[in-house]
Amino acid sequence: MDLAAGRDDVIHLEVGDPDFVTPGPIIDGALDAARQGFTKYTPNAGYMSLREALARKVREQYDLDVTADEVVVTSGAVTGLATAIFATVDPGDEVLVPDPGWPNYSTISLIVGATPVGYPLPRQAEYLPDFAALERLVSRRTKAIVVNSPGNPTGAVYPGSVTEELVKFASRHDLFLISDEVYEAIVFEGEHVPAARFDDDGRVITISGCSKTYAMTGWRIGYGVASPPIAALMAKLQEPLVSCASSVSQKAAEAALAMPQDVVAEMRDAYRQRRDIAMNLLDGHIIGKPQGAFYALVDVSPLGSDSYAVAKLLLSETGVATAPGETFGELGAGTVRISLSIAPGLLAEGCRRIAYALGSGTSALGGTG
Ligand code: PLP
Repeated sequence: MDLAAGRDDVIHLEVGDPDFVTPGPIIDGALDAARQGFTKYTPNAGYMSLREALARKVREQYDLDVTADEVVVTSGAVTGLATAIFATVDPGDEVLVPDPGWPNYSTISLIVGATPVGYPLPRQAEYLPDFAALERLVSRRTKAIVVNSPGNPTGAVYPGSVTEELVKFASRHDLFLISDEVYEAIVFEGEHVPAARFDDDGRVITISGCSKTYAMTGWRIGYGVASPPIAALMAKLQEPLVSCASSVSQKAAEAALAMPQDVVAEMRDAYRQRRDIAMNLLDGHIIGKPQGAFYALVDVSPLGSDSYAVAKLLLSETGVATAPGETFGELGAGTVRISLSIAPGLLAEGCRRIAYALGSGTSALGGTG
């Protein structure tokens, strides 16, 4: 990231930030709100109007019986994940985190003095969790499991049966299940099945947000859905961290939920098209076929197993920046993550260069390179 930062001569496939601009009605909503004086602190849990709108969305989209007292608006999904872990995990506890998975789950666990324990999402199993390994890794000290579908960096979308099995696993071992569903709107094949659908006893804490769905990463709006006592604790924990999510951004989120949602489907379709471009150009090198989110893991093992070294090599030799797979856990060795949040032409050029470096350049370039 540091080596590639700010370089115009580099194709940036390393960052996970949507390249779309935030849709106009959302920006208008924010401007109107600012003029109307929504510029002050909000309650820790967010404006009630937004909590109600989010509860309605979850009820309507997933047919789940959710009320506003179970919803807390957070400063980005990451603050929702942090407050969920702070609310449920004590020093000395263990937290099961996906490997490969988004590194902040481990970092947040370490901040509370807990130990993150990676559970394998084997590439041979299309990045679905290995339940036998989970049974081996769970201990008396395990307090929570973090689940992420659609997954970063894997692109896996869990079938409902797998998610149900994970909730049963959490129930059997009396764990909280923190379900990071920030990519819920970006599913190419199949459908997103929320973990909360299988929750009988309030152990599932769902985290989602506006960043990926509405191309709003800089607005910092996420939310958690949890049983009322956990939701209240998460809201309280925001006080010393961020106090509340930005007032204007909360109003922008309300505008996002209220506008026609076609634009969400359009962005999803654009990501799918890019996924297909990458699959074509990196034929055989992409592990699995990403079913959602906007990433792909590329097998770069012919260039070496140290993914940091390979990412540096790709940057210096081909001018393409990628994220080293080991950033996401031990099972990321021999891979780099490419992001699909870039214009198709640049993505294609980046993929061609990687393919060339991997030795399939002639076919990928149609004989020209
Ligand atoms: N969860 C996952 C899996 C992510 O990849 C990201 C951002 O990249 C987030 C959460 C954070 O989202 P937010 O911008 O809402 O904090």
